[in-house]
Amino acid sequence: MGREVEAMDQTEYIRLEEIYGANNYKPLDAVLQRGEGVWVWDVEGNRYLDCLSAYSAVNQGHCHPRILETIIEQARKLTLTSRAFRNDQLGAFYRELCDLTHSHKVLPMNSGAEAVETVIKTVRKWGYTVKGVPEDQAEIVVCANNFHGRTITIVGFSTDEGSRRGFGPFTPGFKIIPFGDPSALEAAVTPNTVGFLVEPIQGEAGVIIPPEGYLLEVKAICERNDIVLILDEIQTGLGRTGKLLAEEHDGIEADLTLIGKALSGGFYPVSAVLSNTEVLGVLQPGEHGSTFGGNPLACAVARTALRVLVEEGMIGNAECMGAYFLKGLQQIRNDKVKEVRGRGLLIGMEFFPEVGGARPYCKKLMKRGLLCKETHDNIIRFAPPLVIDQETVDWALERIEAVLQE
Ligand SMILES: *Cc1c(COP(=O)(O)O)cnc(C)c1O
Repeated sequence: MGREVEAMDQTEYIRLEEIYGANNYKPLDAVLQRGEGVWVWDVEGNRYLDCLSAYSAVNQGHCHPRILETIIEQARKLTLTSRAFRNDQLGAFYRELCDLTHSHKVLPMNSGAEAVETVIKTVRKWGYTVKGVPEDQAEIVVCANNFHGRTITIVGFSTDEGSRRGFGPFTPGFKIIPFGDPSALEAAVTPNTVGFLVEPIQGEAGVIIPPEGYLLEVKAICERNDIVLILDEIQTGLGRTGKLLAEEHDGIEADLTLIGKALSGGFYPVSAVLSNTEVLGVLQPGEHGSTFGGNPLACAVARTALRVLVEEGMIGNAECMGAYFLKGLQQIRNDKVKEVRGRGLLIGMEFFPEVGGARPYCKKLMKRGLLCKETHDNIIRFAPPLVIDQETVDWALERIEAVLQE
């Protein structure tokens, strides 16, 4: 049959998605075809600066040549064996990831949500077998306005109605406290508390940065009460905030850290649970797994994705370009923006509620060649790939200023 999709115009691509696709997204109408570094091109040849980076999955820039070379080379050799057998990439991936993050052990999965599910299972089992919590009584504390993924268990402890409504019944065993308030954690703890799951900065909630020293206090509370501190760094990790992991801003090391997204530089779903204690040691053969988790293609891609992040200075670039971008945004004079906040290249611009939502501004920016996305109605997140240079930040600032002053 060989249906021709090459010669269609933009509206035709959109029409096909609308007719045949589930309606669970409301994308901006840029039909993208090609990407390189911080830039992407649509099917009509228009160029855009990507200021979302696939929610921080393409920190290394689109189609990074070294990662591309790795995925092609490894795909020719071996892609999937299942964990019924060993493969020649897995051990090296573990060692390199542990060395880089000062972890003891790794459990590889695919999506971020799977890493979160993995950690929930592991921490519960740790609670029963090590801490001595009575069977089926384990409690995990989480924060209001969290985003940890889309499975039933995870949306069950979301406070976002749109994520939860219509999907119950949900998994019990979670307690929700306000974000950024250590005393709320202290108050929520019971003898059955096994873990505290938190994002170092709440990305989806609109780049919410907790008060100075929050993680340090939380870490102390967890230690005092024999609770596993679990940091979801799926969005904040791997250079995004100007450090390899955002926990470094507070000078702590979580017991369990979740990474995903940029772990593959956007080529392939790869996630991992990193462990600094022996918590991962409670899992026995047969108790957890994934057909694709830890496959040789994923491991090879992730090894190169980590290497380029470090060797090409992307983390330091995120720190200095992030500070430059943030300052530039804060200096734009206008009466629409309530606050601009950020750390590294994770920046949120919050509009006053009277402005009537951030989405129209995302559409106007798209027309000027800058792709970004609103989060929670009133906030735009600016999170370009970490390879962005000063000239391109200036280019973005000019366009953002023009749109705000229209
Ligand atoms: C994206 C994200 C997830 C979920 O990752 P998926 O790969 O979409 O399942 C979990 N936690 C945080 C903080 C995220 O940003």
